[in-house]
Amino acid sequence: MTAQAPSPLLEVKNLKKHFPLKSGMFARGGDLVYAVDGVSFNLGKAETLGMVGESGCGKSTVGRTVLKLIEPTAGEIRVNGVDIAPLNRREMRPYRLEMQIIFQDPYASLNPRMTAGEIVGEPLLVHGIASGQEREDRVAELFRRVGLRPDQMRKYPHEFSGGQRQRIGIARALSLDPKVIIADEPVSALDVSIQAQVINLLMDLQDELGLSYLFIAHDLSVVEHISHRVAVMYLGRIVELADRVELFVNPKHPYTEALLSAVPRADPTLDRSGRQVLTGDVPSPISPPPGCHFHTRCPYAVADCKTRTPELREVAPGHWAACHLR
Ligand code: SF4
Repeated sequence: MTAQAPSPLLEVKNLKKHFPLKSGMFARGGDLVYAVDGVSFNLGKAETLGMVGESGCGKSTVGRTVLKLIEPTAGEIRVNGVDIAPLNRREMRPYRLEMQIIFQDPYASLNPRMTAGEIVGEPLLVHGIASGQEREDRVAELFRRVGLRPDQMRKYPHEFSGGQRQRIGIARALSLDPKVIIADEPVSALDVSIQAQVINLLMDLQDELGLSYLFIAHDLSVVEHISHRVAVMYLGRIVELADRVELFVNPKHPYTEALLSAVPRADPTLDRSGRQVLTGDVPSPISPPPGCHFHTRCPYAVADCKTRTPELREVAPGHWAACHLR
């Protein structure tokens, strides 16, 4: 008899978020933006799932919907087996402590009128967890944990560099002892040299605290270092999901191949020369192409691709792809 695999911390099943299109030159009553259109994945304890795709593919909407910062149109979001999708604000409170978000732009997401210490300690106050000296002490400890000095607590966001501001955002996200962190393009606004420092900090925190990350990025090279598995999104759907090394060495979906072609490789054995380069823009999620959404840009497309939607299938153990030809 084999031991059963532990159930994942977070299980997302057939998640959909369709926004009504209310304004714009071409908007008609009843038009919908299919931002997220049937996304399923799970996330284990102390695991990082990288989620990658071009701008507008729906990856940030997945992150916000999982946290219920926006309500899902359909689907399940299971946290430790409990579906939080139908829960109201009050019922959501315990789950808000378990899942936190780190935003892309650390400057825009920090209140400029609050000190860094107030920003980091605010969730402790709001949730009635700590106040007074206890709160001060916990905030000082959080500052140390993310590589800031406690004497920087009295400074304001504009007095910090971009990398330091992102450390403040990380400290704030950690203040409630979450299990899951949705990192929404957390290093995209930073210089390349600073990106590596923030990614290393997130990896160290994962080792120390057993955190699970959904790490959202538009660039495969950013998620390569930090991810255990990688999901590739295209127009509201996951088109490939696999172990990180497997995905980089043996991509199955033409879209992943094209994204990888754009990633410069230090290791010549992983050279991608000869693979196709992606051309054209992502079509609009208001009226996505029928069949396989990628058929308008895919060099291998056949007639079937224009009418039949490929299912996300397990094409090799633990390796999932949505393509008729794989
Ligand atoms: Fe290309 Fe067809 Fe595969 Fe879609 S299903 S990725 S269009 S070959």
